[in-house]
Amino acid sequence: MADLPDVLPRDEHNADLVANVHPGDWQNPEPAARYNLVVIGGGTAGLVTAAGAAGLGAKVALVERHLLGGDCLNVGCVPSKCMIRSARASAEVAQAGQFGVRVPDGVQVDFAAVMERVRRLRAAISHHDSAERFRELGVDVFLGEGRFSGPDTVEVAGRTLRFGKAVITTGARAYRPPVPGLEEAGYLTNETVFSLTECPRRLVVFGAGPLGCELAQAFQRLGSQVTIIQRGPVLLPREDPDAAAVLAEAFRRDGLEVAVRTEVDKVEVRGQQKLVHIVADGHHDVVEADEILVGAGRRPNVEGLNLDLVGVQYDERHGVVVDDRLRTTNRRIFAAGDICLKYKFTHTADAAARIVIQNALFAGRRKLSALVVPWCTYTDPEIAHVGMYEKGAEESGVRVDTYVQPLADVDRAVADGEGSGFVKVIVRKGTDRLLGGTIVARHAGEMISELTLATVGGVGLKTISATIHPYPTQAEAIRKVADAYQRTRLTPFVKKLFDRLLTWRR
Ligand SMILES: Cc1cc2nc3c(=O)[nH]c(=O)nc-3n(C[C@H](O)[C@H](O)[C@H](O)COP(=O)(O)OP(=O)(O)OC[C@H]3O[C@@H](n4cnc5c(N)ncnc54)[C@H](O)[C@@H]3O)c2cc1C
Repeated sequence: MADLPDVLPRDEHNADLVANVHPGDWQNPEPAARYNLVVIGGGTAGLVTAAGAAGLGAKVALVERHLLGGDCLNVGCVPSKCMIRSARASAEVAQAGQFGVRVPDGVQVDFAAVMERVRRLRAAISHHDSAERFRELGVDVFLGEGRFSGPDTVEVAGRTLRFGKAVITTGARAYRPPVPGLEEAGYLTNETVFSLTECPRRLVVFGAGPLGCELAQAFQRLGSQVTIIQRGPVLLPREDPDAAAVLAEAFRRDGLEVAVRTEVDKVEVRGQQKLVHIVADGHHDVVEADEILVGAGRRPNVEGLNLDLVGVQYDERHGVVVDDRLRTTNRRIFAAGDICLKYKFTHTADAAARIVIQNALFAGRRKLSALVVPWCTYTDPEIAHVGMYEKGAEESGVRVDTYVQPLADVDRAVADGEGSGFVKVIVRKGTDRLLGGTIVARHAGEMISELTLATVGGVGLKTISATIHPYPTQAEAIRKVADAYQRTRLTPFVKKLFDRLLTWRR
């Protein structure tokens, strides 16, 4: 078996975590003669594939080299959202004055306690993904590094697992940018940042994607002075530019420094501090930091799997090549999750795993392209999206109508002091058919599901307008957008007709 993972700091919570997701005394089972499915990688995609397939009666082996639960549980969604919750508490105390609540001593963040809470909650959640639970579900759990060793075999910890079908769910890891001096200076990634017990006084974050933005704001609110260095012109470059602009304003209010159109030239160490040399528009500058957090993208875990041996095509940047049914170039081998998907989220890993179960075990024909994928960046405000953007629609020649409802005109958002956001919906021109939507709001991640459901169910703005939304809620913004569409149906001719009818009825 591989060495026991060392999750820092070595405290009772991390001991509980490891006891669940990589128990030290775990005995790999005696392999079955043949498995319906061998799954390599025990993150979300692997766990969902294994549990779902075993639940249907398949003989399944699951292979994990590090921690079951993968990125999401251990170094991704779970710890980041726990930390963001503490950061929000801090921001709420800091802003309490505007609600008439005085906090005379101001905010005092106990960063060690924040991170202890992160570790405690992560450990508490980890039993869902535990080796023992999966054994009880009927999955043969093998801890160790998996690799293909023949056309229908996977090798792990000296054992050979024979498969009918195999699934690659080995995920991705942080990309390490080749910045001169960075390795020598040392830096944090999502794999190490949640082990911190002291808050860096000055933190420089490379990259303003979802990961960079979420953690940058959280650290700022927990006591760091954060500077974000972003190569492109805006935060969250893939999002609606109006959404990114609201976030930029929120970051400004929080006191973050944001350097856009800026490249990192090199990093130097001077005494205890790291000097980040940046270049913007030919102008050189230096930012001093105690820590650097790199959030500059992800790279798929394709190495060491012997993919060439089994004829699985891959690319070191984009991962394993799959078709729309998630088959690799070897028809017996499928893939799911970050290793092959463009949209790298836990919910897409989960959805892809469900497709794989049907397609691999029952010759199903479910397609990735049929999924409607929402996502959310958990900054404050949150930025959630589903479907097309206006720009993408334009570029692909789809004509659209756009409806926008600012939250400043939604009573609940005003009452909550959360008026800086909006709901934007695009529909096919002249119709009420949803093509996409962006929501910027404190709980946009909760609100986006209404637009997702409408898209999946073919529900148009007309029906949303006729749907009662409780008053006062921020979700009323969605109904207001739908009302705006309804008003466009009142053409001058119809209006005149109504006027006449009502006059006659007086
Ligand atoms: C900081 C951060 C925050 C995030 N927040 C969110 C969020 O809020 N919402 C959201 O939807 N997504 C979020 N994500 C993304 C989410 O974590 C991933 O999309 C998700 O974990 C992908 O699951 P996966 O199963 O494909 O891969 P992973 O979770 O990476 O799992 C892959 C597993 O395979 C194992 N493995 C690799 N190679 C081998 C091998 N050869 N043999 C055996 N095992 C192997 C690895 O050890 C790992 O456990 C976040 C990511 C990060 C980094």
